[in-house]
Amino acid sequence: VIVLFHDRFVDRKECLIDIEDRANQFGDGVYEVIRVYDGEFFLFDDHLKRLEYSLNEAKIKYDINHQQLKELLLELLKKNEVNNGGIYIQISRGIAARSHPFPKESKPTVIAYPIPTSRPLDKQENGIQATLYQDIRWHRCDIKSLNLLGNVMAKQHALDIGASEAIFYRDYNHVTEGSSTNVFIVNDGVIQTHPANNFILNGITRLYIKYLAKQLDLPFNEKVFTVAELKEADEVFISSTTSEVIPVTQIDETVIGNGKPGPIAKQLLNAFFEHHKIQQLT
Ligand code: PMP
Repeated sequence: VIVLFHDRFVDRKECLIDIEDRANQFGDGVYEVIRVYDGEFFLFDDHLKRLEYSLNEAKIKYDINHQQLKELLLELLKKNEVNNGGIYIQISRGIAARSHPFPKESKPTVIAYPIPTSRPLDKQENGIQATLYQDIRWHRCDIKSLNLLGNVMAKQHALDIGASEAIFYRDYNHVTEGSSTNVFIVNDGVIQTHPANNFILNGITRLYIKYLAKQLDLPFNEKVFTVAELKEADEVFISSTTSEVIPVTQIDETVIGNGKPGPIAKQLLNAFFEHHKIQQLT
């Protein structure tokens, strides 16, 4: 694997990250995962905008040169012969002796490399089982931060009990998102999802679904829903850059709808590629 390390391409073995990079001790950094279809980035500018948002909110001083970064990342795809897949990009606050305050002087560490990604066709067709998990994370889930311990623990719990995704709730009146996805319910054709605030990551796929809903004349409601509403919905589905849209057919013991993927999730999946030449959402 060839890695983009700052503005250089190095072999993975030569990409030596310092032990005191703040990503290591503090998870002090932010990241993005961008999908590549047929050699082209999908919604690249939206991902870069969110990366800038995360950097700003985390007060990491790093000016992204959009054009230069895009060229470097396209070169990264070429060097790794990625035509369909994804790239991971991470920016940490940089290297400094371990101490909580922001270092006075530190140069953010930038790395990017390809991550193998393929469409989860089986899950998209048949749906998945999810489990509820208390949202044990902090209150700034809008920042795409490297601190993913809560997400990782939730996901592993889901897999341990034979489910595929954990759906977070803050309390029984407040479902937030999945461990690595946004969550949607559908009732009488109305799509509902958590509003974009500090309790969720504003998924680029979530925004794309909002756009698709408009194209398809499907009502889209950004409003908190409860655990009871989740379980009683006609349809439930999740979204992310790597999952696209995946129907949820069971949550713990509760079968959703008739236990089969619902029509709205199918409609969105069908529309996914019809519209995927769209350049920018935000
Ligand atoms: N929420 C969380 C917690 C996530 O980790 C992700 C994806 N990494 C998402 C939502 C979905 O975001 P996106 O559609 O931009 O991939």
